[in-house]
Amino acid sequence: MQKFSELPYTRPDIAAAVEEYKRYSEAFKAAKTFEEAKKVFLDAEKLDTHLSTIASLCSIRNTMNTTDEFYEAEMAYLNENLPNLIPAEKAMKEDIVNGPFRADFEKEYGAHFIAVLENDLKTQDERIIPELVKESELSVEYSKAAASCKVDFRGETCNFYGLLKHMESTDREERKEAFEKWANLYEGVSDKLDELYDKLIEVRVELGYDNYTELAYRNMGRLDYTPEHVEKFREQIRTVITPAVDRMRKAQAKRLGLDSVKYYDESLTFAGGNADPIGGKDYMVGQATEMYGALSPETKEFFDFMTKYELFDLETRPGKHLGGYCTSLPEYKAPFIFSNFNGTSADVDVLTHEAGHAFQAYLGERLIPIGVLQGSTSEVCEIHSMSMEFFTYPWMDKFFGDRADEYRYAHLCDALAVIPYMACVDEFQHEVYKNPKMTAKERRGVWRSIEKKYMPWRDYDGNAFLENGGFWMQKQHIFLYPFYYIDYALAQICTFFFYDEMKKDRESAWARYLKLCKAGGTLGYFDLLHYVGIPVPFED
Ligand code: ZN
Repeated sequence: MQKFSELPYTRPDIAAAVEEYKRYSEAFKAAKTFEEAKKVFLDAEKLDTHLSTIASLCSIRNTMNTTDEFYEAEMAYLNENLPNLIPAEKAMKEDIVNGPFRADFEKEYGAHFIAVLENDLKTQDERIIPELVKESELSVEYSKAAASCKVDFRGETCNFYGLLKHMESTDREERKEAFEKWANLYEGVSDKLDELYDKLIEVRVELGYDNYTELAYRNMGRLDYTPEHVEKFREQIRTVITPAVDRMRKAQAKRLGLDSVKYYDESLTFAGGNADPIGGKDYMVGQATEMYGALSPETKEFFDFMTKYELFDLETRPGKHLGGYCTSLPEYKAPFIFSNFNGTSADVDVLTHEAGHAFQAYLGERLIPIGVLQGSTSEVCEIHSMSMEFFTYPWMDKFFGDRADEYRYAHLCDALAVIPYMACVDEFQHEVYKNPKMTAKERRGVWRSIEKKYMPWRDYDGNAFLENGGFWMQKQHIFLYPFYYIDYALAQICTFFFYDEMKKDRESAWARYLKLCKAGGTLGYFDLLHYVGIPVPFED
């Protein structure tokens, strides 16, 4: 394999791939023995891996520079044509599930493999291909609208990420001004975002034949639980975690010497300023290399691989897609980490959180032969990543020097404090898809009332846009990854369990974490938790 920047991209001939897939489908139908059927299945799997590697490479380069017309056009081509593979893929899945070799496949790859295929079959209806294409076009449009936002802050041109630094300033006026600019940015594009969200809701409701929530749960691979489980979980958040965070906010006000914490104060943990990393990107990657080298033999091998092939794009640039993510190039068994460094502790979180995802992908792609079983559903994937944030606590001195304890304190507080917000994002989406005809204004009203329920401390200090419910707009997941957010809260509860364990017996906690990562998605959600001895977070 070459370094990431040297990896070749050529547009795949999707029409030819569809024909090839059809031939596999027919050969599978004609197979006389399981061995024959398995060989055809694995050949088709290889084609899948190849296409998803190309799509992933294209998507990474597109997010690295959203103004690059080449990858933009390629992305549009892939988004438009890849869904054409669905009918042939579906035919083979149906033959595995309903054909004569079902029991053999189950024996070879586990019962969960069959459950995953059965779930896929319920979501992959060829009648919805035009809607899927439309949904991905709208998602691209959203990303462009968000990435192009810039604002002048005290003579400096900032995008959303550039503002974050000022939003953590120790100077309350600067902080307030930065937060107001940030709110203005969203208010400025709110008409466009409302319109896009209206269209996304409409196309999704069509996708789900009027019950999009059910389809979204299936799309997320949620085989073990329902919206009722999640509702009960949110109620636990409201009754247990919300009051705890409320007490934390009061303690924070005292620590900062304020009467009460306004929305622009919440992100400041210490009056002297939040602990920031003591070096730039190269320094941090160097420290991370040492850290993963010391943490375990598996993490050493993984991180050395990441640096050798330059599988990162960490620094922020104009035109770059917002946010951070980890993805993978399965044909090369190579994860990739993307972020927008901004000089705050969030940069370190990238090197622990996204690296946790990447570490699991690195292991899964080497240990598990079938693509769909290499990774798990997001409530589990976020355990991989969030737990890594905690397992790396002992090395935080490398990144924060003598302020490492302050970082650890703030990180632990944030981990708890953000859970009620996750419940808001989740409940909001349940409401939106229950009432898809709501106007933009009504949606804001719903958001604000949910916020008051889970985050009673939130004080917008008279900012009209936020006071009227504009805050939801900054949540990319609501637009792009419907219902993906409560997963973080579920995973955080499991991560707290690991955190507690690691304080008692670090070695045993790490061994169980490694076991979870290696198992990927070979078992369902509840079974995976049982397998490593973590309680299911739906329990009271
Ligand atoms: Zn994550």
